[in-house]
Formats: sequence, structure tokens, C-alpha cells
Amino acid sequence: MSEIIKLLPDHVANQIAAGEVVQRPASVVKELVENAVDAGATQITLSVKDAGKTLIQVIDNGKGMSMLDSRMAFERHATSKISVADDLFNLHTKGFRGEALASVAAIAHVSLKSKRDEDDLGTHIEIEGSKVVSQEPVVTPVGTIITVRNLFYNVPARRKFLKSDNVELRAITDEFHRVAMAHPQIGMRFLHNDHELFNLPGSSYRQRIVGIMGGKTNESLIPIEEETELLSITGFIGKPEFARKTKGLQYFFVNDRFIKHNYLHHAVTAAFEGLLRNDVNPTYFLYLTVPKDSVDINIHPTKTEVKFDDEHNLYAILRASVKHALGQFHFNALDFEKEPEYEVPYDVATGTIKSPRIEVNRAFNPFDTDNESTSRSANHTPTYRAPQQQAWEALYTGLDEESHMQQEPEYIPTASLFENEQSQRTSLFQLQRKFIISPMASGLLVVNQNRAHERILYEQLLKQLTVQNGVSQQLLFPLTLHYAVEEVRALKNIQELLESTGFIFKSLENNLVEIEGLPLDLKESAVSGLLEAVIKHEQQDLPAHGISPVERLAAIMVANMAIKTGEQLQPEAMQHMVDMLFACKEPALSPTGKKVFINITGDNLQSKFD
Ligand code: ADP
Ligand code: MG
Repeated sequence: MSEIIKLLPDHVANQIAAGEVVQRPASVVKELVENAVDAGATQITLSVKDAGKTLIQVIDNGKGMSMLDSRMAFERHATSKISVADDLFNLHTKGFRGEALASVAAIAHVSLKSKRDEDDLGTHIEIEGSKVVSQEPVVTPVGTIITVRNLFYNVPARRKFLKSDNVELRAITDEFHRVAMAHPQIGMRFLHNDHELFNLPGSSYRQRIVGIMGGKTNESLIPIEEETELLSITGFIGKPEFARKTKGLQYFFVNDRFIKHNYLHHAVTAAFEGLLRNDVNPTYFLYLTVPKDSVDINIHPTKTEVKFDDEHNLYAILRASVKHALGQFHFNALDFEKEPEYEVPYDVATGTIKSPRIEVNRAFNPFDTDNESTSRSANHTPTYRAPQQQAWEALYTGLDEESHMQQEPEYIPTASLFENEQSQRTSLFQLQRKFIISPMASGLLVVNQNRAHERILYEQLLKQLTVQNGVSQQLLFPLTLHYAVEEVRALKNIQELLESTGFIFKSLENNLVEIEGLPLDLKESAVSGLLEAVIKHEQQDLPAHGISPVERLAAIMVANMAIKTGEQLQPEAMQHMVDMLFACKEPALSPTGKKVFINITGDNLQSKFD
């Protein structure tokens, strides 16, 4: 009996392995440009033809390679960047697997010219399908020129599956942007079919982002800066009014590497909560630095997904920092003096924060013009600073309510609220499309419209879930939605729960969701957004806040269904909302435990005039 197992020839093994590293022209661009960054280049030029299908060339002025190294570079597992496994936890380069050049050379025609500063002559290598065709000395500047032609020439199946030039060019541009944004100090050019698309001089982060995203971006960027032991953050978030309907302008970089991270993404969106309409996405460019041994970038071959040691705490710090930056922005918008120190409200449901090094001036008092340390309660000093005070209050109640709540848990008994006030109740008005203001005998009632509506819908939904068990509105035509297979699976896991809210599913298979009935009050147009949110929560292991799955689902659903900040309300709608709110069992808190309204008493007001 003869043996049947044999080792694959190298070029076949390389070709198979290439499938993992090189999916499309953009993957080649990423690897080559990252190699140039790793080589210490200060100027990189990327030139592609036909969306990379015929040519991808990267020219850098980095340190170059010796004659021998130029040859070695194309061997599998040939890298100068790590030598032992432990080095993986102290990476300072983009690459480390030593696979990229070997993979590219297995499936394309590659030419490499490279020269080091100390050598008189450079070296020129031509490789086709893993075979060295020629190697000879050449006159070439210091640095490396690598040219990849006819990608997938020997893998017709792959070539066939390439998308249109537009789509492939888009993917290349994305990769170029990511590297360019991670390394603003490097000058970067990008040409397509000899036509210059970008020419970005070495600059600051802000300049680089504006250079890529366009001039208007500049005015929309709110800087963010935070320094803790676990994590430091710099970068920008987009002002809420510049949020976009399409996804896209959301960038995380960790230790100079572009990454995708759903959980951290959620932290940022959570910080924007109540400031954005449901159908728009916040913009952010966030540069995170974490200790090198606290992050594992080795879990994905193309390295855009990473794993952190301490994700829950990173979540909390990130969310607080973004909130803080948003607060600072409103602060400045209100024309206050800039104040760099500001309290960061941490609230993690699980665990405690490990000694974040945040400087907090607890005695900070924005109205203390002579800068003397006074406590917050000393705010109400009898000096006349009314306009600022008012602005401060608006900021305070709007953006920083959690910390406010901790310090002054001043709830009002709800039953007696409107006694004797029938006549005054007609004079409701809306402030900043966010608050409903209602005069009362005892003072002023300020209701957060978004949270109030969340509370109302939440109690309705819970009632349906527990008492009526899913009242549905039957759809005339079934609603068909497409998701990724694992997303549909996530929905299927909680199918029963969803059905108890009123959903009726006709199909929850593969990537298809067909819906025949919806919960009452849920508009058809809101369904896909809502299910997306539900999927996201299912897929992420978010802090549970000690609530049941039913309550959690209800909270997610109402967050999507409720009227948002920014929506104008008619007087009747406001009246209805306030009536419904105070018919709730727990009107004072939103489903996620935030304050729904505050009461400014007459005494409170009077003290500001004293
Ligand atoms: P990795 O980047 O993971 O080490 P690659 O296959 O991308 O693996 O590259 C192999 C080696 O070739 C690198 O470790 C580096 O030493 C060398 N190299 C590749 N590209 C360049 C370049 N543009 N300039 C200098 N050296 C390079
Ligand atoms: Mg590399």
C-alpha cells in the first residue's frame, strides 16, 4: 500500500496562504504601504492603475534593504520585525507575520528595487508566481520601489470575483486614508491612472484629517484629550450637527493602527446619546494608546480586529471622555472661558476603574472670576452674574446630569405636582428642542423630552409584554430585511422575546428576516434601525445593569422608538407627553436610570437673585 500524504510544493502553499492575506487589490495596498511606514519612510507615493488590477506601485524613502534581504523578504515567515513570540506583545511595527510579500509574490508579477543609504548600488528583483526571474544591481534612490502587476494572474477564480473598478478603488482609497490618518507626519501621495487624487504633506492630525475629508471638516471637529493609566486618547469627535446619515467617518486607531471595534464604537455612540437623531451616525477620529502588552492584535490576519485586556474599563473611560469633550464644546459654545479641567463622570456597571490618572479640580467654579477655590455649593454667592448662571444651568442639566444626580438627588413627589395648577399647565413651551418647560405653583418643571418619551413607551411595552403578551399590528405586506447570517442568528436567539413584544416573524433564516406583524406604536420605517440596535446589543456583551432580558430589550426598543432631542413638539404633543409621563409608575427615571425631569423651586430661583 503506498502512502498518499505529500507535502505541497512551496509555490502552491504560498498561493493558498495568499488567499488569507490578499483578498483584493486593497489588501496589497495595505501591506505595501504599511511596509513603507515600518521602513521609516517620510514620503510615500502610491500609484495604481485600473483600481489596482493591472498595477500597484509603492515608492518610499525608507531605510531600504540589502541585496540579501531583498531576496529573503519574499520567503514565507521572513520578517525583520519579530524574532520570538514575546515580541508580539511589544510591537512597534504594522507588519510582523512576514507573510505579505511572500503572498503577493505568489499571485502576481512583482518587481522590487531597493537601496540602503550605506550601499552604492541597489538591487532589482523580479518575481513571478513565487519564482525569482532575475536579480541584479541597479541604480536607484535610497528606499524601496515595489511594483505589483497583474494581480491574481494565476488565480482566475479570484480575478473573476473582483468587483468593479469603482468598488475596488473605493476599498484602496479607504486603506490609503487609514494609513494616512494614522501617520500624519508622513507625506503621502496617491495617484490613480496617473491622475493625482491626494497629495498630503506631513502635518498634524487635524490637518491630515481635513486634508482627507475636505475643508468643511475643520470647523466640525471637537478635540478630545484624555490621559489615564489604562488608556490615553487624543483625536476628534464631530459636532452633533455634522453627524451623517451614512456610516463611514468613524475611525479608531490603537497604537497607530486602524482597528474596528464594535464594543468601543458603542461607547462613543452611547456618549452621544440624546444629542443625535436616530438615523444619523456620529463622526469620530480617535487615537487610542494602550500599553503594548494589554492588546492582542494577533487575532485576525489582516489585523483590523484586536482584543484588549480590560475592555469594560476602556469602555467607561472612552465614553466619559467623549461626553466630556462634548460638554467642553457646549461650554465654549456658550462663550465661557476655556477651562481645561472638568469632571469626568465614570459609571461602569461592572467593576471599578483602576486608578485612572485624571486631574479633577473639584473646587472648580466657573463663576468664580477671581479664581479662588470655592466649593460648588458656594455657587450661589450673592453677586450678579445672571446670564452666565443661566447658561451654566442649561449645560449642567443637559450634559452632565449623571454627576449632577449623584450630588443632588432632589426628586419631587409626583402626585402633588399639578395640584391647583390647571390654568398654568396650558403654558408649556419647548426649550432647545430638548426640554419641555412647565410653570408650576412651586416653581418650574423641566422635562427632558427624549427621556420622558422613553419612560412612557417603556412602561407601555413592559405592560404589553407581561399583561397582554404582544399586541401586534398586522402588516399588509410582509417586511423583508437582509442581514448577515450571524446577525439573523442573533435575532433568532431571542425570537420568543421579540415575539412577546408584538413582532410576528414569517422567516428568520440565513440572511433573511421577514416580518408580518409589528409591536403597536412601532413604525415600519423604524424597524430596521431597531433590529440593528437589538442585534448589536445581542452580539456585544454589554454591562447588564442588573436587569432582566425583557427589560433590556424594552430599553433598547424604546431608545429607538422615542422622540429625540432636536424634534420640535407642538403644544398638544407636549401636554400629552407630560400627562402620560406622570401617569407612569416611575416617571422620574428613564429606562436606563437617568433623570427625566428636574424641578426648579421658587426658592431656588429666588436664591439666584439674592
Ligand atoms: P512583515 O512586514 O510582516 O515583516 P513582509 O512580508 O511585509 O512581512 O515583509 C518582509 C520583510 O521585508 C520585512 O520584515 C522588512 O524587513 C522587509 N521589507 C518589506 N518592505 C520593505 C520596505 N518597503 N522597505 C524596507 N524593508 C522592507
Ligand atoms: Mg509587512
